[in-house]
Amino acid sequence: VSIHLPLPRRVRLRAKALREAVLSAVFPQSCVCCGVAIAGDGPRACAGCDRAIRRAMNRPYCPRCGRTLAATAIHATGCVRCRSEAHWNTAGVARVGGYRDLRGTLLRLKFGQPHLPAAFLADYLADEIRRQPWSDSLEALVPVPMHYLRRLQRSSNHAHALATAIGRRLGLPVWNVVRQVRAVPSQTTRRTRHDRLDNVKGAFAPARWRPGRGNGRVVCIIDNVILSGATVHETAKVLRRLGARRIYAATIARPPCVGDPPTRPEALDDALRDPAI
Ligand SMILES: [Zn+2]
Ligand SMILES: [Zn+2]
Repeated sequence: VSIHLPLPRRVRLRAKALREAVLSAVFPQSCVCCGVAIAGDGPRACAGCDRAIRRAMNRPYCPRCGRTLAATAIHATGCVRCRSEAHWNTAGVARVGGYRDLRGTLLRLKFGQPHLPAAFLADYLADEIRRQPWSDSLEALVPVPMHYLRRLQRSSNHAHALATAIGRRLGLPVWNVVRQVRAVPSQTTRRTRHDRLDNVKGAFAPARWRPGRGNGRVVCIIDNVILSGATVHETAKVLRRLGARRIYAATIARPPCVGDPPTRPEALDDALRDPAI
């Protein structure tokens, strides 16, 4: 039945509230990770998924490259793996978890409703950044750049959405001071670490508009996934050129790296084929 007479504002507002209450009862919202129906509002994980993410956060990982490893393999200066990798040019890496724990969420972040999971994941990553000894020294967040052609293809710039949400939580500005000047083939098509480093080499440059941002600053690069570390490496190179004093990186997921002796052989193959990366 449609009503053509204009209704008083209060009646309209009440009707709207009623409609929303009915809708949320009929279509309760779902867990951002597994899709199971849960009550409440705002992007959230169900209790089980939240526990899994917190568990992943608490697993020991290398402070230099972010790899999840046994505590005995990790030292203050790096781990048994990254000690042979010269490309780690950041002072530290913070990560929420491994790849399997967060895969579904990352897929949604990349292709689904970009803003809901970004806000949701930012809670965890902001918590993890707060736990770092370097957290208080941060002055700004820098999302890894995305080429404008790719930005047109995708519904959103996920690293930027993530950085914005984390910045809000940590009270830090987001600086888009690095831009991608060359479109690069997807890193997922590159099998070796060397290929990946080569693929993004020289792809980034200082953004045209960056009034006084960089000089002597302590910044943290934000990306949703760090795989080989090649993208972070190139972004950090540009930041250093801009005069950044200290550069950190933070990411949601840190899957096993290309060239790592995989603990589960299938894990790396899955990660490379995965559209979430
Ligand atoms: Zn869930
Ligand atoms: Zn390491």
